Amino acid sequence: MQKPKLAVHKFTSCDGCQLAFLNAGEALLELANQVDIVHFPEAGPVNPNAKADITFVEGSISTPQEEKRIKQIRENSKYLITIGACATTGGIQALRNFETADKWVASIYASPEHIHTLATSTAIANHVKVDFELWGCPVNTKQVMTAIRSLLSGVAPVASSESVCIDCKNKNKVCVVVAKGEPCLGPVTKTGCGVLCPSVGRGCYGCYGPSENPNTESLAKWFKQFGLGDEQLARYFLHINNQAPAFLRQGTKLKGIRIKVVKD
Ligand code: SF4
Ligand code: SF4
Repeated sequence: MQKPKLAVHKFTSCDGCQLAFLNAGEALLELANQVDIVHFPEAGPVNPNAKADITFVEGSISTPQEEKRIKQIRENSKYLITIGACATTGGIQALRNFETADKWVASIYASPEHIHTLATSTAIANHVKVDFELWGCPVNTKQVMTAIRSLLSGVAPVASSESVCIDCKNKNKVCVVVAKGEPCLGPVTKTGCGVLCPSVGRGCYGCYGPSENPNTESLAKWFKQFGLGDEQLARYFLHINNQAPAFLRQGTKLKGIRIKVVKD
């Protein structure tokens, strides 16, 4: 019987999410027994035009070439999964969307005439149909392996959209807001990281994106009690997942920026 084909493609990103595969150790060797890895340049196989049953996409769309390439990848893929904040919301690099691209390019590059870029950094779902999204910056091995296991078993993967707070309670972690009086985005952030930051006594900064029904308005009011001004508060929301609608809405409101939110 032919093994399912798996591909991992990279767009504008730091490569950090692909490490979820490379750090899998023995599980990666086991995966290679169960699927045929047709494209994964960071791990070896290179065949960008290969058809795949399961395609993972890391990174955002920020150049005209990427706009074309993602359409071809979608055509070649049966099931397409985005991995990480870059691919699911545009990533930290989407902060450029708040300014004109020409301004950024002129202030960063010595020879801006060689830079061919789009005006924005956008999520994969803004360009093609996405079947499943894995959030995080970076995503972890458990997330990617669980998704693959589900698909190989013939069921659609699911991800929890509960908040990091719930996970903290389940794991008996001390709340940094209550115990230390420090801001933490845990109440409005999707779980999945295993409460990494609160486990070491620091607040969550929202790298897994907004949880279900996030009350960002209330959290922002609460944070003001810690003496944070609107500008500092806005930075909490306009960070790694700055284009996720719930964070974008709250952050721009605090900054007084009028912006059109395209999708929820
Ligand atoms: S989501 Fe974070 S870790 Fe993943 S590629 Fe983007 S910047 Fe890197
Ligand atoms: S606690 Fe928050 S910022 Fe830290 S890894 Fe988890 S989701 Fe990301």
